[in-house]
Amino acid sequence: MIKKENRIFNNLYGFESPLLKDATKRGDWKDIKKIFKKKPLDIINEVTKSGLRGRGGAGFSTGMKWSFMPKENNKQHYLVINADEGEPGTCKDRDIIRNEPHKLIEGCLISGYAIRASKCYIYIRGEFFNEAAILQNAIDEAYKAGFLGKKACGSNFDFDIFIHYGSGAYVCGEETALIESLEGKKGQPRLKPPFPANVGLFGMPTTVNNVETIAVIPSILKKGHDWFSSMGTKNNSGSKIFCISGQVNKPCNVEEELGVPLKYLIQKYAGDVIGGWENLLAIVPGGSSVPLLPKQICEDVLMDFDSLKDSGSGLGTAGIIVINKQTNIVKFIARLSEFYKHESCGQCTPCREGTGWLMRMMERILSENITREEIDLLEEVTYQIEGHTICALGDAAAWPIQGLLKHFKNDILKNIDKKSKVA
Ligand code: SF4
Repeated sequence: MIKKENRIFNNLYGFESPLLKDATKRGDWKDIKKIFKKKPLDIINEVTKSGLRGRGGAGFSTGMKWSFMPKENNKQHYLVINADEGEPGTCKDRDIIRNEPHKLIEGCLISGYAIRASKCYIYIRGEFFNEAAILQNAIDEAYKAGFLGKKACGSNFDFDIFIHYGSGAYVCGEETALIESLEGKKGQPRLKPPFPANVGLFGMPTTVNNVETIAVIPSILKKGHDWFSSMGTKNNSGSKIFCISGQVNKPCNVEEELGVPLKYLIQKYAGDVIGGWENLLAIVPGGSSVPLLPKQICEDVLMDFDSLKDSGSGLGTAGIIVINKQTNIVKFIARLSEFYKHESCGQCTPCREGTGWLMRMMERILSENITREEIDLLEEVTYQIEGHTICALGDAAAWPIQGLLKHFKNDILKNIDKKSKVA
């Protein structure tokens, strides 16, 4: 369990103001000039050694991602921050921007320096209008204080940050769709390769990172990679903001070490499941795009990338959605299917056609108008979609149904049998 002095986000709940004068009291921008004495490669090595894995969902090593950027300076490099946060059940980046904007801005500056990117775009979800205003104010404060702009922090590095508002498409959270959208085009994912580190924004080398990933960078550089990797479990180092929602008594965001037991998180911070732990039916541990876990697995599963993968799910964004026994689990998954059908960009056939088909099949289970054989067919089709699309939205549509059928198929089949006996 995380020690109080190790918490990175000390103003996550907004008890203090997000303004620069208060942020500096909390340690933001402290020793920033010392960081500029390091070479960009040393910063990348420090982040790699810390074991930081991206906090946006995929969990890829941040240091390694940065190392893919060209080392020469003959082209404009870009740092793009993904603040789109469209994943259902997830609201951590919103709170970082709202209450700790200077952590993000300081992280942008350090990260931009490390990857030799003098321009940074923060692509923020359009609905986060108030948060974007707070962020813009914090950026203006940082320019005024000399932290940003020409010769940022008195160094030889020029750095500018621009905010860009998204228009509400979930798929723009995918990094290449986000880049397309930033370029003023329809937000549709690109085929890879080439990867953004070679051909990204405006055709230039680009790194796209999540808000939380970048906001923890200053702490890693100031306290060292050993400090960061002393938290969490092997290959899953550091702390993470968990968003707990659904059927709990106190939905909340909380920063804890990776590898914390799921049950502990829910009971200690979210006031337990509504109706008590025994009333738990299942949990979706990583935003809506990962398979659910039934109660028996939730008893002792640890909340980190590898433990959840081993349990048949994923950490994703760490948006924990709690489902109790009063919830109709089929209706819950059917609603997600409708969401993914609505958000499919339509570029590739398995996703364009498949998401609508999945949605209609889920509606048929709900209306009890389906046969046993069709349940098997539904399962099979999810595997035809998974891994056969340009971006991960196809997987995201398939996995919730796979999770449902893996753990609750017998209940669905029993219901079909009961219905056919009555008929
Ligand atoms: Fe578009 Fe879906 Fe293909 Fe992604 S998987 S590119 S959202 S059609």
